[in-house]
Amino acid sequence: MTHRTRPPSRICPNCDGFASAAITLGGRDRNGHLRTITAQCPACHGTGTLTARRSVLSPAGR
Ligand SMILES: [Zn+2]
Repeated sequence: MTHRTRPPSRICPNCDGFASAAITLGGRDRNGHLRTITAQCPACHGTGTLTARRSVLSPAGR
């Protein structure tokens, strides 16, 4: 059982840190650029991290 080491910041569980993705629409525009749209994670709004809405878990020992 090897878990990934947790990064210091909380990564959004919905997108696993990949908050925005460029999605190709297929084809290119007249300049030859790929036509892409950027989809952002609705949960973290493209930040990839969770806002510290929940308070930090209380340390052991209460
Ligand atoms: Zn997210």
